[in-house]
Amino acid sequence: MSTVLVIGAGGVSSVCVHKMAFNSDIFTSIHLASRTKSKCDAIAASVKDRAGVDVATYEIDAEEVPAMVNLIRKVQPSLVVNLALPYQDLPIMDACLEAGVDYLDTANYEPKDEAKFEYKWQWVYHDRFKDAGLMALLGSGFDPGVTSVFTMWLKKHKLKTIRQLDILDCNGGDHGQAFATNFNPEINIREVTAPARHWENGEFVETPAMGKKITFDFEGVGEKNAYMMYHEELESLAKFNPELERARFWMTFGDEYIKHLTVLQNVGMTRIDPIKYKGREIIPLQFLAAVLPKPETLGETTKGNTNIGVIATGEALDGSGEKTFYINNICSHEAAYEETGNQAVSYTTGVPAMIGSAMMVTGKWKGDGVFNMEEMDPDPFMEMLNEHGLPWQVKELDGPVDF
Ligand code: NDP
Repeated sequence: MSTVLVIGAGGVSSVCVHKMAFNSDIFTSIHLASRTKSKCDAIAASVKDRAGVDVATYEIDAEEVPAMVNLIRKVQPSLVVNLALPYQDLPIMDACLEAGVDYLDTANYEPKDEAKFEYKWQWVYHDRFKDAGLMALLGSGFDPGVTSVFTMWLKKHKLKTIRQLDILDCNGGDHGQAFATNFNPEINIREVTAPARHWENGEFVETPAMGKKITFDFEGVGEKNAYMMYHEELESLAKFNPELERARFWMTFGDEYIKHLTVLQNVGMTRIDPIKYKGREIIPLQFLAAVLPKPETLGETTKGNTNIGVIATGEALDGSGEKTFYINNICSHEAAYEETGNQAVSYTTGVPAMIGSAMMVTGKWKGDGVFNMEEMDPDPFMEMLNEHGLPWQVKELDGPVDF
């Protein structure tokens, strides 16, 4: 018997709540709260239709800690699943501590006025969760999330140590729009326009945004340009794998996306500092996010696959010398939409959020304190990926990557 309270009602939340309802033996009572209650109601109606399960809905501003505490006390969940935005991570963690309940999220805390993508704000909560006998699991999406679990699975079953790591995130989907982002536009654009950073010889090396490009042939998609950028799992992967000599993250972007983004950046529309407009303060990126297509509306038109995976080189566990393995998942936008009414970027995040929640409520993953995915046993999580719509494959490559 487990009661869960999910916060946020965007694309990721929609997938996660559908998947929880499809697994009602694990999630016996599902509650959904967000800033706009009508979005919760729309998800609940779809879940009722597809799974025959009732989802209770509520309106909440997750940044209001006392209101969050009241809601948690009313619902009495064993876990709060934070699928709102990274800005709400700390208030929701505060509310969980006060109400005495476990916590899970898919993205690290972000201050509103600066794009940082760092775990430090949440890591300092470790002792408070530990002392309260509670668990917080950070970053249970795909990247971060599955990419960390893939890496630790390779380290458990194939490689004794990992010398070199490349994470390759390809969205080969076409949504038919001139410019749109596949998850929250504000967070997506903050991520892409930040300087690139990769891990090399014990430190992060910073280079200009989109300054390094490769062309890679992705199975299920074809050849795509991928750009090196910073992504938050690099920080936890480097922390928990101190032997790493180099770790990099690559994401594919089409020429049209880059053209639009360059113009928006050049004209100041991606700024996150407030500007005065007709006597009011507005943040250009928030205004831009408000006029762009909502990610949850892209599902119906998006066609094609995503292919996200990890290439790791290191010393083989069986003593056969240096080996390189590529482990990845290919996910179809059309199949994701058919099953949950959402495209594959929401699907590849919402499914791991459900699986991380299942790990916690069933007690397969437990601990007192704040944890990253790298600290947990990858095997039960990997099993559930295969069973719940994100099957993975692993193959040995001829040698280390040549890019
Ligand atoms: P959306 O923007 O579609 O949804 C966010 C939801 O949070 C909206 O329903 C929004 O409400 C709600 N929300 C915002 N502020 C508050 C608040 N103060 N109180 C309560 N609810 C609030 O985002 P996505 O579904 O695309 O992404 C959700 C999360 O998943 C993000 O944190 C994102 O960074 C993360 N993510 C992680 C990935 C991974 O692989 N690890 C990949 C993709 C996303 P409203 O409807 O009123 O706007």
